[in-house]
Amino acid sequence: MTDKKPVRVRIAPSPTGDPHVGTAYVGLINFAFARKNGGRFVLRIEDTDRERSTPESEAAILDSLRWVGLEWDEGPDKGGDYGPYRQSERSDLYREHIRTLLDNGSAYPCFCTPEELGSIRKRQREQKKNKGYDGTCRRIEPDEARRRMDAGEPHTIRLAMPLEGETGFTDRLRGEVSYANDQIDDQILMKSDGFPTYHLANVVDDHLMEITHVIRAEEWINSTPKHVVLYQAFGWEPPVFVHLPLLRNKDKSKISKRKNPVALNYYRQIGILPESMLNFLGMLGHSLGDDREVFDLEEFIQEFSFDRVSLGGPVFDVDKLLWLNGVRIRDMAVPELASRLRESLFSQEAVERLVPLIRERIDSLGEFPDKVTYFTLHKLPIPMELMVKGLKTRTPAEMATLLKKCVKEMDGVEFAAEPLEEFLKGYCEEKDIKIGELFMAVRIAVTGRKATPPLFETMEALGRAAVTQRLLAAVELLKQVRL
Ligand code: GLU
Repeated sequence: MTDKKPVRVRIAPSPTGDPHVGTAYVGLINFAFARKNGGRFVLRIEDTDRERSTPESEAAILDSLRWVGLEWDEGPDKGGDYGPYRQSERSDLYREHIRTLLDNGSAYPCFCTPEELGSIRKRQREQKKNKGYDGTCRRIEPDEARRRMDAGEPHTIRLAMPLEGETGFTDRLRGEVSYANDQIDDQILMKSDGFPTYHLANVVDDHLMEITHVIRAEEWINSTPKHVVLYQAFGWEPPVFVHLPLLRNKDKSKISKRKNPVALNYYRQIGILPESMLNFLGMLGHSLGDDREVFDLEEFIQEFSFDRVSLGGPVFDVDKLLWLNGVRIRDMAVPELASRLRESLFSQEAVERLVPLIRERIDSLGEFPDKVTYFTLHKLPIPMELMVKGLKTRTPAEMATLLKKCVKEMDGVEFAAEPLEEFLKGYCEEKDIKIGELFMAVRIAVTGRKATPPLFETMEALGRAAVTQRLLAAVELLKQVRL
């Protein structure tokens, strides 16, 4: 179908947190496919979630993709013929396309209030019926709907899914996939504030940006029938769909920061070389056709083929990543390794970040490395006796529960010294635990020491991923303590 058009692929991350290893994984496959086929690799920022999207997250995504070496041909920072590449700057386009859908009856306004939607859901639960919108507003006469919209009544716009039949598509890795239409919700395409949802913006942009192959993670496969219906509603030819297998933990659960760090910058911080990261991601679910395990990006591109992708749930095994990194470190020429070390541990930026924290505590520069080892160690030893000794009112098991909950609640906290301090103090109050007791446990968990620079500044400098990983490691150890 689209085979003769020049290949154009994209990744479309949402800037709502730390850049994820999954983004680099999907990025690598898109990049390799583009390079192999003389195509273009586009970076599009999907910031339709206005509440959660931040410019800091966008900057971090660009930075970490560049760090691993996946440079895009078109994107928000470098432009291109299909811009803007940030969805928040394309609102007019989405509004225009919504009008087309309303005019041809493929979408309809929904005036239901959040309360009404809540009671629909409640009714469905009680009657054990399918979840999803029940179509109340779909039954409003078009003239009446138009009148209410013109009168300024708040509304969303929903996709009018066909009520019968099936919607199918061919997935390049999975073959024919099809879904019964009556199982698919009348998805909201535009929110009441006039902003599009992912589904509308994604389809409009993929079409307007002439994306030929949508290569993305498996978690989007259930959205694809909605997208196919949208392509049909616009009268557009859909791209080729390729849904990559989800990365998994060793226990085969979907990777999550509760098991291993998933933030790319965490791996950068602990000194994984970018080429090791790419090499590792390239091994996940793709083989080079022989038993080569250590390879570089060029080799990967050369051998890349969808026929070599296996769907068996590739395991994101951090030990394997460390092994690969070790092989590369040992293979590297000394001057190269020396400069990599300087870049990683002693770059101006890294040192400037840490100096304010430790200058009070050193009398000679030589003491610096020892004072900051905990910023970069992947497996930081946690002195359990010290931690247990600090427990005055709680058992180790109780502290484990407290820390685990603390990690969870910290997800919603901005990762900077002040908000962290406020959060942790509030948490102590809520749980009725002495500040000193909880803070000491946190301090020992995240630094491995009792005496450190101020805790919250230290946590900020360590970053969310490292703090989370260490607190969870401490939770596991505390659970094993037998008094
Ligand atoms: N914004 C989606 C994400 O964050 C993009 C999914 C897609 O590639 O269609 O992953």
